[in-house]
Amino acid sequence: MTTLQFIALSVCCLVCVPAAAATPVPAPAPACIAMRLDPRTNMFRIQPEYRVTAAARQRTAADVFIRFLHSGQTGYWGDVALDWPASASNAVLYAAALWAIYLNSPVQITLEACWTASLGPGVLGHSGAIGASRDFSGAPQTNTWYQIALANALHGSDLDPAKDDFAMAFSSSFSWYYDTNGLPPIGQVDLVSVVLHEVCHGLGFAGSMRISAGVGSWGYGTPYPYIYDRFTENGISNALLNTTLFPNPSVALRNQLISANIFFNGAAANAGNGGPRPKLYCPAVWSDGSSYAHLNDATYDGTSNALMTSSIGFGEAIHIPGPVTLGLLNDEGWVVVPEPAVIQYGLLVAIGIVLRLKG
Ligand SMILES: [Zn+2]
Repeated sequence: MTTLQFIALSVCCLVCVPAAAATPVPAPAPACIAMRLDPRTNMFRIQPEYRVTAAARQRTAADVFIRFLHSGQTGYWGDVALDWPASASNAVLYAAALWAIYLNSPVQITLEACWTASLGPGVLGHSGAIGASRDFSGAPQTNTWYQIALANALHGSDLDPAKDDFAMAFSSSFSWYYDTNGLPPIGQVDLVSVVLHEVCHGLGFAGSMRISAGVGSWGYGTPYPYIYDRFTENGISNALLNTTLFPNPSVALRNQLISANIFFNGAAANAGNGGPRPKLYCPAVWSDGSSYAHLNDATYDGTSNALMTSSIGFGEAIHIPGPVTLGLLNDEGWVVVPEPAVIQYGLLVAIGIVLRLKG
């Protein structure tokens, strides 16, 4: 795309098989990443602090298109859709506008957004890429899966224009705070924060490491890791993809994934973390859809990097990706605008967000 972000306004986790190397393929099974409610109150808030100029916004804009599902439709992850309350969809659009500030992609990002009563207890939302691609023109690393939104950006055009890039769903069952001012009261969950979080998974904050039947594995049955997996390692800097140490699949890899001692070692992520490798959330008990795909809660709660921890509390509002997450995305291949990003939503509207809907 060339100019403005296209954000629909006002209305309304990652697998593949190597059938064809450059062809994105759908996930064969739900592999989305969930965000859970921390039932405690945490009044920690971070909001964007700086204004952005129209020129800067256009220079750094990613084009985000949101396809809101309606009652009677079924989401990609099997969620039964309800109609979106207008205030809730507005919060989604606001979050997308924030992300568009931080990303620079020549290709439109398209995503499905489902409002549903189908999610499990304590699950606020979940999301994941609908497809992935490898060995496409522009891929920085060979033999590596890239979430399709990232693959598109690196390739320079949409590898699968008929499909959305990722799908996310949010539970209608919580006491949400829909306002975008980042000031949720005690007892409410900030929807903007949760949407920012789920979008980030769809952009690439997820890998393929799993534990199933007591063994750890990666690649979803293919011999290829996700780009995220290429950066993960243990406390003594052994890459989890080192199959001499950790065969795929193996109990040895399983033991690593529940070691509570796994890190993302990427130059930009490390810089965003002030030098050390950022620590990932890998608790002693594997939590499918949560472990490995988040920053470590105990390390980052209450910091500028809290957005991508595994849960959010009542009253908490994190409206910036944070330097670690931006660095991580940059290590994977995204062109990002570093913190401090400059955002004022009222200004974004004033300088012309285009409103679109489809579906
Ligand atoms: Zn998450």
